[in-house]
Amino acid sequence: MPRSWVNWAIAQIEADFQRSADTHLIKLDLPALPQIDIYLKDESTHPTGSLKHRLARSLFLYALSNGWIQQGTPVIEASSGSTAISEAYFARLLGLPFIAVIPKSTAQKKIDQIEFYGGRCHLVAPSEIYTESARLAKEMNGHYMDQFTYAERATDWRGNNNIADSIFNQMQRERFPEPSYIVMSPGTGGTSATIGRYLRYQQHNTQLCVVDPDNSVFFDFYHQRDPALTSACASNIEGIGRPRVEPSFIPDVVDEMRQIPDTASIATMQWLSGILGRKVGASTGTNLYGVLQLASEMQARGESGSLITLLCDSGERYLDSYYCDQWVSDRIGDLQPYQSALQHFQQTGELKEPAQ
Ligand SMILES: *Cc1c(COP(=O)(O)O)cnc(C)c1O
Repeated sequence: MPRSWVNWAIAQIEADFQRSADTHLIKLDLPALPQIDIYLKDESTHPTGSLKHRLARSLFLYALSNGWIQQGTPVIEASSGSTAISEAYFARLLGLPFIAVIPKSTAQKKIDQIEFYGGRCHLVAPSEIYTESARLAKEMNGHYMDQFTYAERATDWRGNNNIADSIFNQMQRERFPEPSYIVMSPGTGGTSATIGRYLRYQQHNTQLCVVDPDNSVFFDFYHQRDPALTSACASNIEGIGRPRVEPSFIPDVVDEMRQIPDTASIATMQWLSGILGRKVGASTGTNLYGVLQLASEMQARGESGSLITLLCDSGERYLDSYYCDQWVSDRIGDLQPYQSALQHFQQTGELKEPAQ
């Protein structure tokens, strides 16, 4: 098989990467924690708006290098949103047809974004996205990308510009350059797998804390190790929390897991948006609440150090959900207890869990 098209395709992705800038590491200013520094790796500034830009690039390079995609191969993905948007971008870059198999309930705005990059949307019942993607790929002689299986292995965990490598480079001139904790929430689990492996390979002492939202099985799986666990309800936090144990979630590289109530995630999302002066997505709220718990505990123990998490996407995508008061009170609940807890934290550095 002549390799000229695959060579061209990989060169296109590498050139696109060469033209791109790294994402910022933002330092939060919290005077109540004088000996603790908190940072957010801002993944909202990728061309397609989320950390899924990194995943899509890695999945295309992995599939091309495996010989799974040739000139004209239709690419199919099961996704409820952000991954399909980023993959549509790379499929267009390579001139490949792209079909996103998405739940019928997917917001029109997301469908519009996938179509903006030239992708097509195939709407099915939520439980059918995986089997329908495999069926469609077979029927069209295409390639099913399968993010939930391949996210953990498509990225080079040793370094090579992965997100963990970038974070440690950007921390070099900080007063606590080796973070005490990195906190991340799992969707595919790919990002936490990359970070956890990198920490071990590079011999860092940083702990990886993974935070899971309500209605997700990852937290129970971490403790029980039953891969057949399922949840009847879908997660309310876009991008994270899954109703089944995804193969890309690698529990043994996770040092600690915490469950974060959705009300805490949304209250923290709003709180951070106020501090930064711009809107962030809900999973960023989940991530940061985990960081604030750890920071408060470190301060109580008299420890100093740094903590890092990800700003996964912008809140502009969620104006009619997380940024709509009526939607939040109908779907998530009363945020007041966590809003008060965060206000108290900002003044004292102590995070008190509201009584349930
Ligand atoms: C995918 C996603 C995550 C989780 O990242 P994974 O690497 O898939 O575990 C978090 N937040 C948002 C907004 C996402 O789209």
